[in-house]
Amino acid sequence: MEQLRGEMVARDLAGRDIYDQQVLAAFQRVERHRFVPEEFLNHAYDDRPLPIGGGQTISQPYIVALMTQCLRLNGEERILEVGTGSGYQTAILAELAWEVYTIERIASLSERAQKTLAELGYANFHVFVGDGSQGLPQHAPFDRIIVTAAAPQPPAPLIEQLTVGGIMVVPTGSRVGQDLEVITKNRDGFTTATACRCTFVPLIGEHGYEK
Ligand code: SAM
Repeated sequence: MEQLRGEMVARDLAGRDIYDQQVLAAFQRVERHRFVPEEFLNHAYDDRPLPIGGGQTISQPYIVALMTQCLRLNGEERILEVGTGSGYQTAILAELAWEVYTIERIASLSERAQKTLAELGYANFHVFVGDGSQGLPQHAPFDRIIVTAAAPQPPAPLIEQLTVGGIMVVPTGSRVGQDLEVITKNRDGFTTATACRCTFVPLIGEHGYEK
């Protein structure tokens, strides 16, 4: 598995436009096969999303890496992740930041992710079940926010819960295709840049899509 992981990092991340050495090192360390259902183990290091139950997916490694790189982490950040899913992105963030708050609307996925992350020895993460489109106001503000499901527009409560100077990465657009937006908050509002086109499962909630 370690060899397959190394090949995935070289071919699908460093071989494309993932240049942040800390991000590449984290992908080399985190065992993606631990977050994948047993029937898909043979595909754990393919660069593609895989089903994790509940109609949800573990995202493609390249897009997880690109979103992480866009966050420009230095190890001191408190991060909010919306859409825990399998917990794989949570593990990557836990490797690179100070503390990760992660929220998932499907309780069974959240429980499984929490178990996997604990088994792997991570201690700097906090798991919540609920509608992450509303953020986690009781734990705000956050230095970084990452939304791993598609929203019609950047959820207003999440922008509010971002520190000035903070960065949020969020796929926005229709249910079938989105732009990966990188939002940087400043004193007067925020600026937006588009990293790429992408396709995510919908963010279901008050500031997302209806079920
Ligand atoms: N980051 C995950 C990983 O590494 O496995 C992949 C996440 S998957 C593409 C998107 C997740 O967002 C799904 O698990 C879905 O249930 C969750 N989700 C959708 N709407 C949500 C909401 N309003 N609040 C929290 N989670 C939500």
